[in-house]
Order: sequence, then structure tokens, then C-alpha cells
Amino acid sequence: MTKLNINGIGMTSQRTRDRLVERLLDQGIKNFEVLDVMRTTPRHIFLDEALAHRAYEDASLPIGFQQTLSQPYIVARMTELLLASGPLTRVLEVGTGSGFQTAVLAQLVDKVYSVERIKPLQDKARERLRLLKARNIHFKHANGEFGWSERGPYDGIISTAAPERIPSELIDQLAIGGRLVLPVGDNREQQLTVVEKNEHGVVTSIIEPAFFVPLKSGVIR
Ligand code: SAH
Repeated sequence: MTKLNINGIGMTSQRTRDRLVERLLDQGIKNFEVLDVMRTTPRHIFLDEALAHRAYEDASLPIGFQQTLSQPYIVARMTELLLASGPLTRVLEVGTGSGFQTAVLAQLVDKVYSVERIKPLQDKARERLRLLKARNIHFKHANGEFGWSERGPYDGIISTAAPERIPSELIDQLAIGGRLVLPVGDNREQQLTVVEKNEHGVVTSIIEPAFFVPLKSGVIR
């Protein structure tokens, strides 16, 4: 777990951030650790300056390359689902994007391994997380649909891009007792899904509809 260094980054007012947490409570987020991290993580530094003033709205926002920083509700919800069976030591994230979800995770689990296929997005995220002095994050530029097997198995895996079918590599890299949280579906219909692995196999639960960018193959330099 890491503590972010938020000195000198011009934090938005306490009231704006408290309002964000009130909204998350209304939307059914219950995990207090997650709520606390959502209140203290500076979302505005994960956006380009022109959009930073909208950072505490409950909306997904563009980060370039046709990708989006996820809406606060879904970041909180997926994090809560990931943590539902207790503390996590090793977490794989597919789709670093802006790095906001990565920053949230880094404060709640021991180590985060984050894979992104678009190099310029990864570079920006890495720089922001370096400024925040988050030291428990490892990055990889690759197609995350194959996971990151050298660093596995993971007791938590999260994907912030939607595959049409759950990649078998992600299930393979899950430890016994581990859980995978991801949206599954195409551009018309997706479901936020949780896969739990036990000694006998996997149990899949559908949570609620979701709207994510697609998980894509190949990498962009
Ligand atoms: N958690 C991010 C979400 C970004 S959107 C945030 O809140 O900012 C999803 C991200 O997944 C995009 O950055 C996209 O480039 C990335 N992505 C899509 N397919 C991928 C793949 N196969 N491997 C790794 N990253 C992928």
C-alpha cells in the first residue's frame, strides 16, 4: 500500500470532494476504505488541463486516443468488488489509461501490475504516479488480454476495457481464492462481471450493465 504525496498539486476544495463521496454513498458504495481513497485521490491531475475543472463530476472524461477516464462511480464499484473477499497482495490491472484507477488501487493493495497497450497514455500515467510518489506500481506496455504471466498469479485482476469474452489467460493467472472484475460484452451491451476462482473451478457472477471502451489487440507505440 502506498500513501500519495499530494503536496503542491493544487487540491480541489474539500467540499467538492466531499460531495463526490456523498454521491458515491447514494449510489450504493459501502466500503469505507474505498470511499476514503476516492475522497483523497486528486482526480484532476489525471486529466489534461482543459478538462481538469470537470474532474469531480460523476462522468467519464476523454483522455485522448479515443479512450476515457472512467466515471468515479464505476471506479469505486469495481474496486469495492475486487476487495470484497479481503485484503489483496498482488493485483493485475489491464488498461492503465489515465492512471486514476491505478492510483486508487495502489493505496488499497500491496502491489499493482498495470498493463496498457497505448504507449503515450502509459507514459503520462507513469509520470503522474511518479509525481504522487506511488511506489508500489509496475508498468508494462503490452496487450493485456494475455495478462502478465511472469508476475502472476494474482489475487485480484481488474480490466477497465471490455473483452467480448473473458480471456482465458486472465483466469489462468488468477490465484486460488482470487477474483477477476471486468466488463464483458460488445459496443451494444456489456455486463460488469466477477469471476471467482476456487479449487474446483470458477464461479461467474453478473453484477450490472456497464459501458466501457473495448479491449483491443495489438499495441500502439
Ligand atoms: N482505468 C482507466 C480506464 C481507461 S479506458 C482510467 O480510468 O483512466 C481503458 C484503457 O484500456 C485504455 O487506456 C485502453 O488503451 C486500454 N486497453 C484497451 N485494450 C487493451 C489491451 N488489450 N491491453 C492493455 N490495455 C488495453
